[in-house]
Amino acid sequence: MKIYNTLSRSKEEFRPIREKQLSMYVCGPTVYNLIHIGNARPMIVFDTFRRYMEYKGYEVNYVSNFTDVDDKIIKKANEEGVTATEISERYIEECKKDMASLNVKPATTHPKATEEIDGMIAMITTLIEKGYAYAAEDGTVYYRTRKFKDYGKLSHKNIDDLEAGHRDIKVTGELKEDALDFVLWKPKKEGEPYWESPWGQGRPGWHIECSVMSRKYLGDTIDIHAGGEDLIFPHHENEIAQSEAANGVPFANYWMHNGFLNIDHHKMSKSAGNFFTVREILEKYDPQVVRFFMLSAHYRSPLNFSADLMDAAAAGLERILTAADNLTYLWKNAKTEKLTEAEQNLFSDTNIFVQRFEEAMEDDCNTADAVSAVFELVRYLNQNTSSDCSREYLDALKVRLTTLCGVLGIITEKEEMLLDSEIEALIEERQNARKEKNFARADEIRDALLEKGILLEDTREGVKWKKA
Ligand code: AMP
Ligand code: ZN
Repeated sequence: MKIYNTLSRSKEEFRPIREKQLSMYVCGPTVYNLIHIGNARPMIVFDTFRRYMEYKGYEVNYVSNFTDVDDKIIKKANEEGVTATEISERYIEECKKDMASLNVKPATTHPKATEEIDGMIAMITTLIEKGYAYAAEDGTVYYRTRKFKDYGKLSHKNIDDLEAGHRDIKVTGELKEDALDFVLWKPKKEGEPYWESPWGQGRPGWHIECSVMSRKYLGDTIDIHAGGEDLIFPHHENEIAQSEAANGVPFANYWMHNGFLNIDHHKMSKSAGNFFTVREILEKYDPQVVRFFMLSAHYRSPLNFSADLMDAAAAGLERILTAADNLTYLWKNAKTEKLTEAEQNLFSDTNIFVQRFEEAMEDDCNTADAVSAVFELVRYLNQNTSSDCSREYLDALKVRLTTLCGVLGIITEKEEMLLDSEIEALIEERQNARKEKNFARADEIRDALLEKGILLEDTREGVKWKKA
């Protein structure tokens, strides 16, 4: 497996710390709004990478955080007149629903920054003891950037150029020793959430959160740290400075960064206002089409979001799903069970497509080429199956197609769809169960519906439902 490592700016052979085990940390979203489809890109591409490694027999420990304390969350809470926790909890739930729609597997652990404050205080304390950090009079703790000799090794920036760039923005009266120093802990401001610490009441800086959560759930040195390319500097550079100074060992062996999802060739971002939420897009497109679209490009390339490309993705996906349906149809109507020798040979000929698929994935997770290999398999299936085929042969082909699609997170089996009338009947049964105080049954029905993507909402006018 070759991985493009941002640290060395080259493709490197992947060597895990422990054989057949992968520890991976992916920076997650700041939860103050519904996620946009740009945020969905790292979720989908790194989920696909994870699925491939699992397919290869790796045991993957996949950690992705939620940043649930941040200026933007506090601002939103103040606007709505609710607590920051209410905002973050709401959007964590919404984010999980979007991830489920896009068939992104839940992480092994989804830590929340606010639940890891003790670990952050401990790491900051170590950094102060080692001389890498200092507390200013006002209770702010800064990282002493110049003391970390390797600063800039990930983003390939020279520290002196950085200082030149920073000099003009140096604010007089700031309690930093140096313009490059960044915040590890900030003192509380009126109306903001805070925690007790040796430096007074306050809250952590963003960068320290990931250093701490990565260490706690994956260890001092991990295999892969990943995120969008905008995180290389300063976020990931600062994480390295913190973790390596505190732990005394390399932080992550490989750094993977996805390219941006653009609209009209401009970066999609919340601050620029040119974004679509996943929720908006799912009103127009099947979630599988969104996923397939994301995988149609290499994860490091910029990807432009357009109706044309989405339509192309929809058409491509349809070809695959039709081939899978066709296999099921032939299987149901097949007249023979046992694989013939000729069929055995035909089946063996599909090995080449699996090989091409794997070669593409092994080459820095080239999903675009992996998708091409699936198309080749589909073409082959269409040409080499008929109503005369045996069930065993059709089965084997189906497993092959389903397995490769499964690595991409594409589901080929059409899920059993519930009719509206069936949904209404279940809702009525749930209402009756609640009236009879049979809450266990009521919850069971709610969960069963949720599994089929049906969300229930209790309103004053009764229960409403919608498709997730
Ligand atoms: P944020 O909530 O802004 O911290 O972003 C969460 C994740 O989404 C990070 O890994 C970002 O790099 C990534 N991200 C944000 N916008 C985009 C975009 N337009 N295209 C690809 N990735 C993005
Ligand atoms: Zn992070």
